[in-house]
Amino acid sequence: MAQTLTAPKVKVDRAWQLYIDGKFTNGTSERILINPADGKPLCKVQEAGKEQVQKAIEAARKAFDHGPWRKTTAADRAALLFKLAEKIEENGEELAEIETLNCGKPLRESRFDVADAAACFRYYAGLATKPHGQAVDVPAPSVTSVVREPIGVCGQIIPWNYPLLMAAWKLAPALAAGNTCILKPSEYTPLTAIRLAELLEEVGLPPGVVNVVNGLGPAVGQPIAESTLVDKIAFTGSVKTGKIIAQAALSNLKKVTLELGGKSPMIVFADFDLDTAVDYALFAIYANAGQVCSAGSRLIVEDKIHDEFVRRMAERAGKIKVGPGLEPDTEMGPLVSEAQYKRVLDYIEVGKKEGAAIKCGGNKAEGKQLEGGYYIQPTLFTQTKPNMRIVQEEIFGPVAVVQKFAGEQAAIDLANDTQYGLAGAVFTNDVTRAHRVVHALRAGITWVNTYHNTYNECPWGGYKQSGWGRELGTYGFEAYTEVKQVNINIDPVPVEWFKK
Ligand code: NAD
Repeated sequence: MAQTLTAPKVKVDRAWQLYIDGKFTNGTSERILINPADGKPLCKVQEAGKEQVQKAIEAARKAFDHGPWRKTTAADRAALLFKLAEKIEENGEELAEIETLNCGKPLRESRFDVADAAACFRYYAGLATKPHGQAVDVPAPSVTSVVREPIGVCGQIIPWNYPLLMAAWKLAPALAAGNTCILKPSEYTPLTAIRLAELLEEVGLPPGVVNVVNGLGPAVGQPIAESTLVDKIAFTGSVKTGKIIAQAALSNLKKVTLELGGKSPMIVFADFDLDTAVDYALFAIYANAGQVCSAGSRLIVEDKIHDEFVRRMAERAGKIKVGPGLEPDTEMGPLVSEAQYKRVLDYIEVGKKEGAAIKCGGNKAEGKQLEGGYYIQPTLFTQTKPNMRIVQEEIFGPVAVVQKFAGEQAAIDLANDTQYGLAGAVFTNDVTRAHRVVHALRAGITWVNTYHNTYNECPWGGYKQSGWGRELGTYGFEAYTEVKQVNINIDPVPVEWFKK
């Protein structure tokens, strides 16, 4: 028997329903969610059938075309989103516990995500009322302006690694811009999205403006991506599913943004303090058990310090306290699901067969509090080759590969040598070199001497197969708007293009 010492304060044994047209309703089936910390049933959740998905789409369409939402001012929407941010904070401990129970991450990470979700709604509440258009100086008598308008009905499909935060990244800019939404959480982690719908209801969001439909991707996500009633699809998830979404969106050429996977490099030069670099490398790969799209999963280390870097990294990784997310001393939790756990263990076997050497971990993590849960030891591979699968493919677990380099250009070449281009970091004390290297990285998010900093104010998204478009910042807001030019003739006289 697994021994989780800390009992949860929240009761998740309650009804978890769909939210359609302002009502919480049952679906056509029920899924039993599993607590990844012990592999036991956590609670039941309602899942949508075809009919409910269609209802949710129609509700969002009706709310956009004929509801009161279109008539709200930016200030009205800002006020509502500010209230929502407060509600999230008021219910912060509860949301954090639900998140930890559902996806396994340590409570300290869930608390951070809750705070970040509230901050995201606040950022977009503020942005809603800021100037967004242009006044253009064209020949009289036309008065011309360019305005931004909501796109319309937005389908939003999100993954399981940051369930509440991903919902916030999707809903906050969409609502600030005046759109209506159908949100589909991951089938593994729908709980905080449903709780968020309850909070939206409490702050007075009109019916149909946000609809939450749970269920499997092909059954629930795909019809949203295909629907001709939907104007935009915003997707976060794997490259494989991203390509399916892009195909489905062709039905009516809906606008598409895709936030996909990564295999991000962290380059360490020998001039940088070694202990600090190791400390960041641990954070880069083992935070959220490596289930982070921007995880620093490839450690590209200068040959002069390679062996000592590996020695210190392995020593510290071996000390990471793996355990249930609710335990206060847990530093790394379980993986989200049995499927993900098996997938990561399979990748570790692939790495062994490919001939890479394991310097740390390489197995499931076992122990008194870990029985039944999906725990994997923090794992470090060395003696890798660039064409190995463990170097090229996203593992999405606590597994880092080390690549050795000699010379700056070699580091850049290794860093850019994958299909992905989400994030990347360089650690050096040489500011000129830091500039050169970050500019040479083909990635949308870069860091110098730090890792994982994410700001609601800055665009998030990738180069190459890491996606299309950007979320967050003003870029993320613009991705939920159409641009319209408005030309007003203030002194109309006949144009007389044709003779009378
Ligand atoms: P996934 O692609 O399997 O699923 C993501 C979502 O898509 C889920 O809600 C799923 O139900 C849905 N889905 C699956 N098949 C579908 C279909 N045919 N039509 C419509 N929807 C479908 O990804 P995942 O395993 O949930 O998440 C992990 C992936 O997400 C990783 O690749 C990770 O890098 C990526 N991710 C990217 C970012 C980013 O910002 N770039 C952030 C978080 C996660």
